[in-house]
Amino acid sequence: MEDSANKILQHLEKQGFFAYKVGGYVRDKLLGLPVHDIDIATSARPEQVIGMFPKVIPTGIKHGTVIVVLENQAFEVTTFRVEAEYSDHRRPQIVQFVNRIEEDLGRRDFTINALAMDLRGRIIDPYGGQKDLASGLIRAVGDPKLRFGEDSLRILRAVRFAAQLGFTIEENTWEALYSEGHWLREISVERIHQELVKMIEGPNPILAIKLLSDSSIFPFDDWNHIFQHVLQHPGFSLMKERKAPLDRWTFLFAATKVSDVPYFLQQWRFSKGSIKKIAEMVFLCQMDIKSERQGKKCILKYGTEQMIKAHSIRSMLFPEFTIDKEQWESWNQQLVIRQPSELRVNARQLIEVFGRESGPWIGQALAHLFEKAALGEVDNHFDNLIIEARKVI
Ligand code: ATP
Ligand code: MG
Repeated sequence: MEDSANKILQHLEKQGFFAYKVGGYVRDKLLGLPVHDIDIATSARPEQVIGMFPKVIPTGIKHGTVIVVLENQAFEVTTFRVEAEYSDHRRPQIVQFVNRIEEDLGRRDFTINALAMDLRGRIIDPYGGQKDLASGLIRAVGDPKLRFGEDSLRILRAVRFAAQLGFTIEENTWEALYSEGHWLREISVERIHQELVKMIEGPNPILAIKLLSDSSIFPFDDWNHIFQHVLQHPGFSLMKERKAPLDRWTFLFAATKVSDVPYFLQQWRFSKGSIKKIAEMVFLCQMDIKSERQGKKCILKYGTEQMIKAHSIRSMLFPEFTIDKEQWESWNQQLVIRQPSELRVNARQLIEVFGRESGPWIGQALAHLFEKAALGEVDNHFDNLIIEARKVI
């Protein structure tokens, strides 16, 4: 990826423009962290960039951004710009193109993100970003109150970077978080969602939650309620060891007993797919399994893997009431059949034997027979199954 980005810089330079790798790439590179994407800033105008490369997607020309696709990789290439006329504490209304990278870096949120690197590895650092990287500080570029007032999402980004990198938030920046936090209400739920996901799924969800609740900057009572509860939970410290996002979210909602998980997630713009997964996992890991029979029924309904996963999360919640992997596997082994198709009677046969029109009774009868046969309570033979079916039809 770096080679392709450098080719883009080289090409832009050859045409007489300035071009740099910027922002998160330079920060992560200097920290020795893996690189996941490379943003490029240039003095070339978007139309000029479009004319210079064979494959360009014009995503945000108005804001100076296009995507250059080179060697099957996509790079955001943005013209040096400054921003003006922030309204409603959100993104700027007007951008103005400028000629120097130093000016462009001044619009960026934190000193550690206001860094640029040229083709030869020379770093442009007008705001002391390298020093702050070395001391582990999140410091706003310029006056933090003004900067958070312009675009309040930066408040959450400060917390997110602090948690992600294990950094401290510099004093003035921290104070501004307190005084400006309420502006987060003006930010779209989608943008807040994205930041929360990066915090909870990132390397240090615990620090993120602590920062959010310590600073009481987060003006959303529903989340604050969750954070306060989870902080006091004895299993909280285990959250960091669980890398899977599903484990993290499940623990969060199960530990804090959110009453309507799907509704909550929907309000906060989680995708349909993740709502389904998280809500089912929360339900399964909160369920008390009181008997072997109930456990086996859960396997039939949800699958062994799903129950093992649910109980692995449950072990953080109620370690003494958790069923271990071996137990689930052994219950699974003991099941006589595992698929409805293995049942030695089918819908057509039931209709024949009972001489009734087809209807919902068939599904109900087959489900009953499947459970009985799987649990070994009825032999999986046609005659025995019909005798059992008579009891429920
Ligand atoms: P990561 O991609 O790891 O989340 P990043 O720093 O690359 O972190 P992006 O959201 O990809 O973050 O943004 C790229 C760069 O754009 C940032 O490094 C920063 O310089 C600038 N930037 C992004 N969002 C803002 C913002 N809300 N205000 C000011 N500058 C921003
Ligand atoms: Mg990025």
